[in-house]
Amino acid sequence: MPTFAEARKIILDSVKPLGVERVQILEAAGRVLAEDITAPWDMPLWDNTAMDGYAVRSEDCSSPTVLKVAGFLPAGGNMTETLQPGTAVKILTGAPIPPGADAVVQVEETEESGGSVTIRIPVKKRDHIRFKGEDVKAGEIILPAGTVIRPSEISMLASFGKVFVPVHRRVRVAVLSTGDELVEPGEALAPGKIINSNSPALAACVRQAGGIPIMLGIARDNPDSLREKLAEGLQADVLMTSAGVSAGDRDYVRDILDELGLRQLFWKVDIKPGRPTAFGLHGSTPVFSLPGNPVSSLLTFEEFVRPALLRMMGHQRVLRPLVTAKLKEGIRKKPGRVNFMRVAVEQDNGQFLAWSPGKQDTGYLKTLLLADGIAVIPAECGDLSAGDQVEVHLLDENTGLMEA
Ligand code: AMP
Ligand code: MG
Repeated sequence: MPTFAEARKIILDSVKPLGVERVQILEAAGRVLAEDITAPWDMPLWDNTAMDGYAVRSEDCSSPTVLKVAGFLPAGGNMTETLQPGTAVKILTGAPIPPGADAVVQVEETEESGGSVTIRIPVKKRDHIRFKGEDVKAGEIILPAGTVIRPSEISMLASFGKVFVPVHRRVRVAVLSTGDELVEPGEALAPGKIINSNSPALAACVRQAGGIPIMLGIARDNPDSLREKLAEGLQADVLMTSAGVSAGDRDYVRDILDELGLRQLFWKVDIKPGRPTAFGLHGSTPVFSLPGNPVSSLLTFEEFVRPALLRMMGHQRVLRPLVTAKLKEGIRKKPGRVNFMRVAVEQDNGQFLAWSPGKQDTGYLKTLLLADGIAVIPAECGDLSAGDQVEVHLLDENTGLMEA
């Protein structure tokens, strides 16, 4: 049985980035560039003014002076005549510097009346000019392959007229729940039945990671039903099942996957919760069999499936932010296995504080709702005391952790 670290390494070593598609820039946020993007031209494309004011010849303005206003250049305007000695051109931010001018004086330092402008300060060559190619040079790699596209990347792409961008495909993940006890949300419950909450929850996880869930519904605890659904799921980029992989009488998932030709890489991991987590490859298709318990399936998705999906979509950083937090209160733990503890986290004077917001038993879904992160407690660790340091994966970039 692999350790947590070994299991995650097996998974990440088994998955590769998916192929490339070209998407419209409006759809590109959150995607990962699959090719280097090179600047087709200089940015800015020409010398332009950083200020509203007057374009001047600096040699006319070494001390305060009065110049004749020879024209007006709004943004979008252009001037081909050369600026004559003793004259200035009124100019608005972004407009090209007219030929002959070599500085701009900002409007706040001037006063215009009767066709002339008083310049109240000395002006130096290059003042308030943004020079051609100062930001980006033609031919420069502006965005290397592997870049995650955020609004700032979109701004860069758009300003070079890149309307379609090459990105890794979104991963299509077949989501299958298994169990005779399950009914779908909205269907009538009966004695002994429970609602399939894993499918919608895991679908949300897939979507949040940037993937596309494909809902296969429920397979029943019999070989025929499982065979049909599992075979269907193997058409996707990833197959993810929940339940039916423990040692119960009706836990057939493993046998049927075997029969369908799965190369099993592990069937248990030395962690708590989430021990009955399995992983294998069908050809190059990763197959995750997560535990049925709703808390365990979400935790194992976080720690095993999410990093794999991100890698398949081209991400280089696939793990959640890891912070060191100080425990506010003690936590009981038996030495032996890595434990995932659901913890609430707050910041106090630049330091993270963590505590268990409820019972750690996997029967308590509420504890997960109250958690900001997963504390990964090393196998050899026993009981922890207040003040001990733990490593925590923050669950959401937007937890908005508040100062205590
Ligand atoms: P199993 O792994 O099949 O032994 O299931 C473990 C526990 O998780 C059982 O209590 C199941 O009823 C529960 N469970 C399994 N699948 C789901 C599901 N899709 N939604 C909610 N609970 C489930
Ligand atoms: Mg079951």
